[in-house]
Amino acid sequence: MNKNLENQIKEELEEINQKNLMRKIDNLKFITSTRAIDENGKEYLVYGTNNYLGLTHHPDVIKSAQSASVNGTGSTGSRLTTGATFEAHELERNITSFKGTESTLLFNTGYMTNLGVIYTLCKKGDVIFSDRLNHASIIDGIKISKADVKIYKHKDTDDLERLIQEAVEENKTKNLTNNTQNNTNEENKTENENSQNFFIITDGVFSMDGDIAPLPELTEIAEKYNCCLIIDDAHATGVIGKTGKGTVEYYKDKTGTDLTPYVDLQIGTLSKALASEGGYVTGKKIYMDYLINKSRPFIFSTALSPATIASANTALNLLRENHEEYLSALRRNTRRMRELLSAGGLNVVEGETPIIPIIIGPAKLASEFAKKLEDEGILVSAIRPPSVPTGESRLRLTIIATHTIEEIENTADIIIRIWKELIAEK
Ligand SMILES: *Cc1c(COP(=O)(O)O)cnc(C)c1O
Repeated sequence: MNKNLENQIKEELEEINQKNLMRKIDNLKFITSTRAIDENGKEYLVYGTNNYLGLTHHPDVIKSAQSASVNGTGSTGSRLTTGATFEAHELERNITSFKGTESTLLFNTGYMTNLGVIYTLCKKGDVIFSDRLNHASIIDGIKISKADVKIYKHKDTDDLERLIQEAVEENKTKNLTNNTQNNTNEENKTENENSQNFFIITDGVFSMDGDIAPLPELTEIAEKYNCCLIIDDAHATGVIGKTGKGTVEYYKDKTGTDLTPYVDLQIGTLSKALASEGGYVTGKKIYMDYLINKSRPFIFSTALSPATIASANTALNLLRENHEEYLSALRRNTRRMRELLSAGGLNVVEGETPIIPIIIGPAKLASEFAKKLEDEGILVSAIRPPSVPTGESRLRLTIIATHTIEEIENTADIIIRIWKELIAEK
């Protein structure tokens, strides 16, 4: 037994607690897509799920999970052994056709997809240019890859281009030194110059602020400097774009240009709008062939269960058939909540997506706010450091298509009233 380690952990936990940053697990049972009960039976209206279309409780989705389970509950192995279910193959084909790409590969979560893609493709000597506000799974994938990383300012494509130019210069100097050292070895020179790759990696919709990556500029820069461009559309698929295809479609609606061929890889999750669990990467088939052969999170983990995949597939089919109905409800709800909260004097971060951050400031105030809302039967997450910078703690609401407009209006009233009470107390 290591007493020393236990004492260190205890001290660290006490420190976290003193800063009001202790995280804990609150158990919930969702009785509908928007309402949940806790273990005391208290009911809440929930504004914190990623269930953007409310499809977790759609009868067709539930039925498809049930019927897929008839052939066994678990997949029983990795995709390369016995876990290669028909369901997985069908969902991959469906995602490929939805995204208009060439090929798709499933992973077990969105998190594992980022790990599995990034550290397989990005090698020692490569340079990854990563947005400062990218999701933790991108950051972790970069960390375990042996590539160099340059963080550019959030959505700042000038800063990105400056960093790329710097890396190009550094590379030239390096090759020059290599050449003078090995000027007898011409082959070595070619190898060095060709083996280094540049990657640009960004969230499509950023998970904390709900803002959208500047994809047209990013594709231009990626073309200009020969970079592999990877976007993570976890919060974009099923949410933005006329038919919910995500960031690429969002810009196609805006500018008329289809950027699909200019984005090398699109990553996504089955756990948000697609009402299930799992992740995927989609793009050229050659990347998928490579990942199947080399990506350790793909190779060494048991594949998703048939029920999990079947429910995502049904959710995707529902989205493809009913995008107008779902997305207009989602947008109506989002607009109404943003309007009402801003009019009520709350510091709402502007945007178009159903992720609505309300900046509060001190972590303690954000926690108090969330607690008072909870007492009123409304569940909203307080986002505190280290998820956001110190002094920028916030409430983060997510709106979904199945909230009713009455629920949105009542909730906005309650949020505004409690905010006024809180500042009056201070
Ligand atoms: C949620 C999220 C993930 C992780 O997806 P999971 O399927 O929940 O593991 C990855 N990237 C981004 C941008 C996300 O928002």
